[in-house]
Amino acid sequence: MLMRFLLCCGLATVAMSAQAMTLYKSVDANGLVFISDRYTPGALAFVIQERKVERPMLVVPKPNRAQQAYRYPLPWRGGPFRMTQGPNGSFSHTDAKSRYAMDIAMPEGTPIIAARSGMVVKTENAQAGRGSDASGNFVRVRHDDGTEGVYLHLKQGSVSVRVGQHVAVGSPLALSGNTGNSSGPHLHFVVQRATEAGLVSIPYEFNQPVGALPNFALGN
Ligand SMILES: [Zn+2]
Repeated sequence: MLMRFLLCCGLATVAMSAQAMTLYKSVDANGLVFISDRYTPGALAFVIQERKVERPMLVVPKPNRAQQAYRYPLPWRGGPFRMTQGPNGSFSHTDAKSRYAMDIAMPEGTPIIAARSGMVVKTENAQAGRGSDASGNFVRVRHDDGTEGVYLHLKQGSVSVRVGQHVAVGSPLALSGNTGNSSGPHLHFVVQRATEAGLVSIPYEFNQPVGALPNFALGN
């Protein structure tokens, strides 16, 4: 029994360390057989050759890509432009849908590009000026993880993508504008997730710093 136990230990050691291992077998005064990986005088050496057994290697969990925070490339060409209202901005980033939005001031007609790949699920392109929809003209892109990037206040007639179209990072979407509830030319970019309670904005970060303009309704 003891021998079997010791042998098991020996085999376990072999399995954990190498394919072949030299073990030493000795018998004590009471006739008990000992197997050890250390030589003792009088011990009989023998080599255990472990057969190569296909078995899963120890799996080190990789970080789940979907759970890693995606850092958004700037969704425009040109600049640099500055943020005029950030997350929790008291001017209009106060409700669940827009709490974590960022407003970036930029001249009308600035190319707006996709900050993340996905499928266009909704657009508005016909609104002039303030219009009836506070969002103005917009493009909504659903990302692979189910979140949606929304680009608001776009220039009338400039939306160049259609619903169902797949866009890659950097794909042109539209030109920036000043439509809807907008107090000046800017892009309102927000990332949202659909919940039972409706769309809620979720925090996001750009992959590079964006300066802020002072004296505007910046969040804290
Ligand atoms: Zn905004």
